[in-house]
Formats: sequence, C-alpha cells, structure tokens
Amino acid sequence: MQPASKLLNIADHSRDNAGMTYIYSVVSRRAGGVSVGINLNPNNACNWRCIYCQVPELARGTAPVIDLVKLEAELRTFLHEILHGDFMRAQVPPEARRINDIALSGNGEPTSAREFEQVIELIGRVKCDYDLPEELKLVLITNGSLIDRPGVQAGLRRMAELNGEVWFKLDSVTREGRLRINSTRISLKRMRENLQLAAFQCSTWLQTCIFETDGRPPSQVESGAYLKFTEELLREGVPLKGVLLYGLARPSMQPEATRLTKINQEWMEAFCAKIRALGLTVKLNP
Ligand code: SF4
Repeated sequence: MQPASKLLNIADHSRDNAGMTYIYSVVSRRAGGVSVGINLNPNNACNWRCIYCQVPELARGTAPVIDLVKLEAELRTFLHEILHGDFMRAQVPPEARRINDIALSGNGEPTSAREFEQVIELIGRVKCDYDLPEELKLVLITNGSLIDRPGVQAGLRRMAELNGEVWFKLDSVTREGRLRINSTRISLKRMRENLQLAAFQCSTWLQTCIFETDGRPPSQVESGAYLKFTEELLREGVPLKGVLLYGLARPSMQPEATRLTKINQEWMEAFCAKIRALGLTVKLNP
C-alpha cells in the first residue's frame, strides 16, 4: 500500500486514493476525522443510475465476486497504517486525526455483492484485532433496493452488533420521480418494506439528495408526497433515526450533469423544517 506516498487532498473522495482495490480513505474537515471506505464495486457497477451520481463511467450491473482474502489484507494493512504508521501525520490535518467510521460506500451498490454478509463478518473480526474507538461506526450507504435478500438482512443484523448505521437512499416517493432521478422501477411498496426491514434490524437514516433540475426545485407534489410517506412511516412505528438531507456536493458524472444545480439554501431549510415538524432529526449537508 502507498497512502503515505500520495498526498491526499481534503476534497479527494476518489476510491483509489490508497492504491488499493477495495479500501480508500476520505478525510473530512467538517466531520473532523478520517473515514475508512470500503468499495465493493471496483467495477463501477450499480443496479440504479442516479442522475447526480458521482461515479465516473457508471455501468448498470452488480458488484463482482469479492476477493475476501484481499479485502481483509487491505483492511488490516490500512488500519495498521492509520494507527501505527505515518498516514495521519503525513496526510491529515491535526484537527482531523481520528477515525470517524468504517463506511461501505463504493462505486455502486454495496449490497449487490453476493458476499455481503461475509464482508460484514470480516469487518467485525478485523475490528476486534485493532485498538479502535469504542464508538466507531460501521456505516452502510445503500439504495436499499436489495435489503430483502436474506444475506443482506443477516449482514444488517451483524452490523447492529458492530455499532452499525444504514443510510437508506430515498430521493423520491413518486414512481415518476424514482424513474427520473434514480432510473429505477422499484415500487413504493417494496421500498417501504425494505425500509422497514432495514430499520427494524439496524439503526437507519433516510438519505435524500435535493437539487434543482433545469433550474426548478422539486415540485410541491414531490415534496408533499415525501412528507406524507415519512409521516406514515413514523405513524406505523418504523424506528427511523432521522433524515440526512444533502445538496449537490460534487459534480454529477452522468449525462444529465449540466441540467442539475444546487438548490438554494432557503428552499433546503424550509424543507428541513417541515421534516423536523414531523418529529424527525434532520442533518443538513447543503
Ligand atoms: S445508487 Fe449510488 S452508486 Fe448507484 S447510481 Fe445511485 S448514487 Fe450512484
């Protein structure tokens, strides 16, 4: 591995910054720490195609066969480097020299890996062998479409024992919106069921990206449907941790990129207030 030989830009979220196949790091000044990323989609393949997706050369598909031996070796090497090597001093500003989390967040949908459950087991095993902070989180960033697979659910149950958190993508609750934004035909019924499965097995946040398309913010129909859906979930007793509301942080790598712009702060804050009024925690990342 060669993290110490490559200067890591604070805004560098590319998945190959550690020179590894599966492991990369993100240094965040805002979050005040380093996130150890695990990319199970080095083939840039996802079963969705979101118009704001930042994955270059995104292809439709699933994760390839995961080389678990290689993944474990890379994770051990990287954690060793972070804890005992030169990585923090050489590449991380003093105020961010701590590990924030381990995050399954790749260039595609991580739960599409057939080995998902084994990957979570592996992370748990490796974590035990290192002197890591008790509160270290294991985050899964997912579009949620494959949560109903038995192997994914088993992985989520194991994640819950490892201080796990699921960030479940919910950009639109209308059929038209999901088709336009995420290029998926998943039904609302299946999304709701998957969300329930996730939330009852592991701490779950909704993760929603808000932006303007052709200079227009989401319609009232869209935002109204989102609020109604969320309210219903709460009424049904689905134990949501809250909502992570994102703006466009980095440019889309999809053909629609030029049609997308950041939403204005006022719109974002007004929407945020409406979600909070339902009784949910909202973290805003405009
Ligand atoms: S689900 Fe994630 S990786 Fe897949 S297309 Fe959407 S933003 Fe990209």
